[in-house]
Amino acid sequence: MSSSRYRAPGDPGPSTSKRPRVVDTLAPETAHERHQRLHALRRAYDRGKPPPRPASRHELDVLKERHQFVRDSDVDPSTLSWEDQLAHRHYETLFREYAVVNLKHYKSGAIALRWRTESEVLSGTGHLTCGSLRCAFHAPSPAVLASLSLSDDVPPDPADERPLVEARLEELEVPFRYVEAGEAKSVLVKVVLCRECARKLRHGRRKAKEDRDKRAEVDPGACVRLLVLTDVGGD
Ligand SMILES: [Zn+2]
Repeated sequence: MSSSRYRAPGDPGPSTSKRPRVVDTLAPETAHERHQRLHALRRAYDRGKPPPRPASRHELDVLKERHQFVRDSDVDPSTLSWEDQLAHRHYETLFREYAVVNLKHYKSGAIALRWRTESEVLSGTGHLTCGSLRCAFHAPSPAVLASLSLSDDVPPDPADERPLVEARLEELEVPFRYVEAGEAKSVLVKVVLCRECARKLRHGRRKAKEDRDKRAEVDPGACVRLLVLTDVGGD
């Protein structure tokens, strides 16, 4: 279920096949070159274009109301209401590779998830840092960024998996069962966490399973409630 990623900060890891991080500090980029590099970086995530910002307060409210963590991508959008078409379009532009988690209520078995925003993807947050929103290792460490000659203008190369925090990170692929829009869903989610947050996540899932098993004795259709955070702003 969990895989691979025990690696100390600064340790390039056993693989030598990965592209090395290239930061040319001798020849400053022009604005055009930087634009082209960021564009290529976005394309590296196979998502094409960043999620559009809601055009109005009303659209933002609709997105928050209709947002779902997992949608059926095969559905014909023309069969949906205007509100669900908006939510569907937004969903199709999200970076759905790694999720970030809020573990505030992990002891009660409630774990909140959302997909990463574009700025989080570009900065490596939640992939090269701990994906727990409240963790000290969530934001990239200024010291590690400096040691790797990275900054806001020089984001990490997505092919380089060195952590941007002083912590060991663990990549987990976690199955979640939950109810959304009245429908029982099951989804496999990848999260990257530090050891302490991985422990909390495991604890939360164990607790949720215990509760589910208890409820199943009463109601065989019972399912864990997963809190889903919106990624359309505000959180
Ligand atoms: Zn953490």
